[in-house]
Amino acid sequence: MKHRYFAWFPILFAGLLYLASVAVKADDGAAPFSLIHEHIKNQAYNEAEQLSLLVIEKARQGETYSPGQFLQLGIWLQKAGQYRISQKVLALALEKYTRRGALEEMARTLMHLGISARNLANYEAATDYFNRALTIATMYENSAFEAQLHMQLGIAQKEQGHVETALQTLKKALTLFRDEQSLSDIGVSLATIGDIYVSIEQLSEAKDYYDDAYTMASTAGNRRLAAIVTMKQGALLLRQGHTADAIKSLKDAIHYFEHDNDKFMSTQAGVWLGEAYVKMGNTQQGLGLLQQGLRFAQSSKHYPLINLARLALANAMLAIKNFDQALQFAQEGAETAQQIHNVRSQLDFLTLQVNAYAAKGNFKQALDLQSLVQTIKEQILQTENQAIISRLQAGIEVERQAQSIQMLKQTKAIELAQAEQENLRNTLGWSLLLASLLSAFLVWSRLKQREQNIALQREVKQRTVQLENKNNELQHAYKALEQVSLRDSLTGLYNRHYLESQLPGEVKRSQFALNKQKGHPTPNQDLLCFLIDIDHFKRINDAYGHLAGDKVLVKFAQILREVFRQSDLIIRWGGEEFVVICKQSSRNELPEIAERCRIAISQHSFDVDSDEPIKVTCSIGFSVLPPDHHISFDDNWKQTFSVVDYCLYASKLSGRNGWVGVLSASTKPAQISSDMPLDRKFKFTHSHIATSFNNVASIVWPSEE
Ligand code: GH3
Ligand code: MG
Ligand code: MG
Repeated sequence: MKHRYFAWFPILFAGLLYLASVAVKADDGAAPFSLIHEHIKNQAYNEAEQLSLLVIEKARQGETYSPGQFLQLGIWLQKAGQYRISQKVLALALEKYTRRGALEEMARTLMHLGISARNLANYEAATDYFNRALTIATMYENSAFEAQLHMQLGIAQKEQGHVETALQTLKKALTLFRDEQSLSDIGVSLATIGDIYVSIEQLSEAKDYYDDAYTMASTAGNRRLAAIVTMKQGALLLRQGHTADAIKSLKDAIHYFEHDNDKFMSTQAGVWLGEAYVKMGNTQQGLGLLQQGLRFAQSSKHYPLINLARLALANAMLAIKNFDQALQFAQEGAETAQQIHNVRSQLDFLTLQVNAYAAKGNFKQALDLQSLVQTIKEQILQTENQAIISRLQAGIEVERQAQSIQMLKQTKAIELAQAEQENLRNTLGWSLLLASLLSAFLVWSRLKQREQNIALQREVKQRTVQLENKNNELQHAYKALEQVSLRDSLTGLYNRHYLESQLPGEVKRSQFALNKQKGHPTPNQDLLCFLIDIDHFKRINDAYGHLAGDKVLVKFAQILREVFRQSDLIIRWGGEEFVVICKQSSRNELPEIAERCRIAISQHSFDVDSDEPIKVTCSIGFSVLPPDHHISFDDNWKQTFSVVDYCLYASKLSGRNGWVGVLSASTKPAQISSDMPLDRKFKFTHSHIATSFNNVASIVWPSEE
């Protein structure tokens, strides 16, 4: 596998060689230019200049560089304040373009040549370059470029102190830029007009133009222009005496320029800052900045900056009473101003000299210079037709205001649109928030409701179970209570449960005793059973009330206790029915006991809390238990009770207040079958009946169903 990779190496190597050769070739053309650019960026201006001169030399010797490369280099050098070398480079570019007949590129190169010449205070040459470029721009109807050229020309005229022509040119530039809607360029024009107002001491007008220029710059997003205008505003504030505000603006501007590596601009702002420091009394720092500025300006031969620094230094020296130094700076400045034909600048320096001589006490010199100042002022007045200037100013003012109004409209429209958008966004935001809150609430309440429902269902279930349990418990408790309580609460007699729990034992004992006798019954071993029911008791309730009925029941029970023996079981069977079981008795006693009971009740007068006591009777059914002692009473003793019940029913039907009962009965098969209803009903072959009614035949038996 390995050798396959090695096979690719020669091809790869050849490729690399080719790429390297291409890079070297490319480097041939661009290398010196990019190297110069590096030097400029590093502010190594000497190296940049030397290398530029070398490139120019090489080009003259026939090296084929493109004119575009020289134009670009010229612009880089110009921006770095290296005007002299920039002029040389640009001149070469112009030569090359002219040879090619590339008119438009020629015009662009001419403009930059003009800018460099202007900065070198070579105004005649600058005006010539700008005018040549303008001829070409008008030919090509390139109004944007035309506007640019007018502005550059206007700046030159302004720097020459030609207020009238400068304003005229800048007005033209402004109109053209407005047609082009080029905000940055409008800003530059406005700032330049502001400079003119400063030079003619119309500071409040200057402020308006600077403010407008700043608005343009920030609207266009041109931060460099904004910083330049801020610097100019700082200089204006300094002139107006607002030194602290001036320092703030100038520092802001310097901050930007330093960040942008713009040495020229930061130096220019530094000169004004130095002036401000001197004014504030921070002389040392101020002078340092001013001297630094002067050195830089001299090295780049930027005359406007040179004189700006000199004027500031002269003033500073005057302030610290170093009159000789002040005079020296002022004299140098006046000379330079004269050289470059800037009469206004010359006037500034001469006035400063007058002040310095006067301060020194050299009044003769001061007076001579003062007369010179006067002559120059008159000259200025002659050259500047004030009426023309005023008219121009008015025209420009109209332009500026039109521009401001348009700007205002634009910003207003933008603000309105932004506000509307913001409004919409807010509304949308709020409604979204509201909607989400609402849905969140809905979801929450749904969940809550479900939760509550589940909890409720669970609780209901729990409660139901609890209730069922309670019910069961209650029923159990009730049953237990019923079984546990063996006595009837109203009469104090035993109740049915007691009988049911006692009777089987009694029956067993009685049967056992009977069995022992082997068919020869001895007395007092029988169990006797009586069922006693009060006659028409309902009527008592109806006539005297339930309480009266209760009272009768209580008294009735008491009579029963008196009638029967202590050992007898007296039971309240239910309602107004009573069962009595007589143990260890003889069946022969049955009729006697029944009669005794009937009489005791019927003879008693019952008190029912009415006017008169009432009479009560009862009916009785009875039987020996069991009626036939041969059958196992264990199995059907409950049925035996229905025999007694049957007898009671018979005594009711037979007229009440009486008794019917069975003394004995037999289930043994017999030849003659009984025709008595009782025997038929209970399948007795024979029974012995006793009654209180006339005779057994007169008993009315319940009908057989
Ligand atoms: P009969 O002669 O046929 O037995 O007629 P009666 O009215 O005595 O019998 P019925 O069975 O028609 O009515 C019995 C009444 O006894 C009905 C009931 O209201 C009443 N009663 C049952 N227990 C009590 C009780 O504890 N107190 C009172 N005051 N009345 C009771
Ligand atoms: Mg009854
Ligand atoms: Mg009754």
